[in-house]
Amino acid sequence: GGNGFAFFEAHMQAGVREQVELAHDLRAALAREPGSGRLALHYQPKVATAEGEVAGVEALLRWQHPRRGAVGPGVFIPVAERFGLIVPLGDWVIKESCRQLAAWRDEGLQMRVAVNLSVQQLRQPDALVRRFEEAIAAHGVDARQLTCEITESVAMDDAAATERALQRLATLGLSLSIDDFGTGYSSLAYLRRLPVSQLKIDRSFIQDLETSADARAIVKAVIELAHALSLQVVAEGVETEGQAEVLRGKRCDKLQGFLFARPMPAEALTRWARGHDA
Ligand code: C2E
Ligand code: CA
Ligand code: CA
Ligand code: CA
Repeated sequence: GGNGFAFFEAHMQAGVREQVELAHDLRAALAREPGSGRLALHYQPKVATAEGEVAGVEALLRWQHPRRGAVGPGVFIPVAERFGLIVPLGDWVIKESCRQLAAWRDEGLQMRVAVNLSVQQLRQPDALVRRFEEAIAAHGVDARQLTCEITESVAMDDAAATERALQRLATLGLSLSIDDFGTGYSSLAYLRRLPVSQLKIDRSFIQDLETSADARAIVKAVIELAHALSLQVVAEGVETEGQAEVLRGKRCDKLQGFLFARPMPAEALTRWARGHDA
């Protein structure tokens, strides 16, 4: 009825208004305006299955909003994408990752960092490559310490343009990883043409490993096919020892998930990594 519609409309407007407000606040946070809250990267270890050592970390963006408190990337990344802020936000992530890599190096910690890339960053390959070059030079880090994670759907977005962008990043020395693998419709025949070195199996398959024979069969097939193509395999969202056990048995190269560690601030990651090397 009329009320239902009015309610729906009010709800929609609130949604849009909220997004506009978040976009405004995010722009202020990027410009580091006083009282605009704080952007930070948290780091989650990828653990080498065989040695149990930290094989690297994934950088995950966090935003401490001045009034709302912590706002998750699941909320503000889509806002940034919609309001033209994802490129400057992505630039910030690239710079901050390189700064942190240099800080770790100065503390005697060799680390690798994977950053997540949005489709819009790949649509401007010149600017993207320049950002990486600048950040790498400014902090004196090695491009081989950096990995770009792009989701399967991004990899398929505009095949020719994506391929060119990724080739240039690979030429710089960066590694490329296909994120959320298994959720899209990409063919491995196409992915094989990209300069990709890693596949990350989506959490939805990992979740079902202990209860679903189908999930086990899919994960086994993906790992075998990936290895046949000389790709490394990471399992994301590993939460139980049982899942880890299945994945070790199938020779998955790296494991990532709450079972090992949650994403954490850089200082906590430093302590965590030291604890695991000792
Ligand atoms: P993603 O790239 O697939 O990142 C993995 C997400 O799974 C992260 O959520 C991480 O905290 C969470 N996770 C890790 N281990 C576990 C586990 O064992 N169980 C469960 N339930 N979750 C786990 P987060 O940090 O909220 O990030 C969500 C998404 O936001 C990311 O998904 C990524 O797509 C996007 N994102 C985060 N940071 C950035 C960024 O700097 N740039 C871009 N473009 N996207 C980002
Ligand atoms: Ca990722
Ligand atoms: Ca993922
Ligand atoms: Ca995922």
